[in-house]
Amino acid sequence: MLLKGKPIAEKNIEFCKTLIQEKKLNPHLYIFLLSDDPASDYYVNSIKKQANNINIQVTLDKENVSQDELINKIKNLNIDDNVHAIMVQKPLPKHIDPNIIDQTINPHKDIDGLTAVNAGLMLQERDCFLPCTAEAILEIMDFYNISAEGKHVVVVGRSNIVGKPIANLLLYKKKNRNATVTVCHSRTPNISYFTKMADILITAVGVPHLIDCDMVKQNVIIIDAGINEITDQNGKIKYVGDVNFEKCVDMCESITPVPGGVGAVTTSVLLKHVVSIL
Ligand code: NAP
Repeated sequence: MLLKGKPIAEKNIEFCKTLIQEKKLNPHLYIFLLSDDPASDYYVNSIKKQANNINIQVTLDKENVSQDELINKIKNLNIDDNVHAIMVQKPLPKHIDPNIIDQTINPHKDIDGLTAVNAGLMLQERDCFLPCTAEAILEIMDFYNISAEGKHVVVVGRSNIVGKPIANLLLYKKKNRNATVTVCHSRTPNISYFTKMADILITAVGVPHLIDCDMVKQNVIIIDAGINEITDQNGKIKYVGDVNFEKCVDMCESITPVPGGVGAVTTSVLLKHVVSIL
């Protein structure tokens, strides 16, 4: 089965639209986009377009600033009642430390769950903003009735925004979670030893086709969060995941397509977070 993100994204967008109309909300999302990275540009513009469609105001700030200036801007936005959510798109220019910047954001406006406060609350299974991609993966699992209960989930990737949070969320003592989780990363020797044991394989690496069909077992469920730009044999740019979809699709019980899988849901989760603040 193909685990398509579109029906989940549409449901989330409809939820936001209804809430905004019924409660006459006026949400305002402030995004810093400080590097010339084309993928970030594409992602942020897609957020802006979808937000505008449902009357979420988006301010896009591209001003070249020092780290201290950025910190001051964020501190002002933190106490500005007309700004409900703050997002700092990565990568940042070299002179700005993303770890310092993330911790400057007011946790109540931290819609991607990057502050230590939200990350700590997540570890304790308490209400908080979760990193949007990790939440998008959970939404896909719930929508398609994929329970992690008693399963061996192997996560490849340990970033703060995808790998670590999804590994922790699937450990939750909660219905449909309760997984046994293994996390692999670039220093894991012989990754296929682990991936072959996975009942559910989740990848968030950024290496095109890292996982091939000889690295997984028959009937595995694969959720591929990777979005990698490659040039095909005809010189055309296309996007692929961390998993070799063509080779793995026939042996999986189910698999997310790339594009059209996790990425399609992530933006809608982000907008749901914005709306939930009001
Ligand atoms: P990241 O911060 O660069 O983390 C990548 C992780 O993969 C790291 O933990 C790294 O290990 C590990 N890794 C790198 N090469 C590896 C290898 N050869 N074998 C095993 N592990 C390896 O990336 P990220 O921000 O988590 O993003 C990962 C991917 O997800 C990217 O393709 C990105 O575009 C995509 N993404 C998608 C969404 C979405 O909405 N679908 C959102 C965010 C990101 P170390 O920790 O040892 O370095």
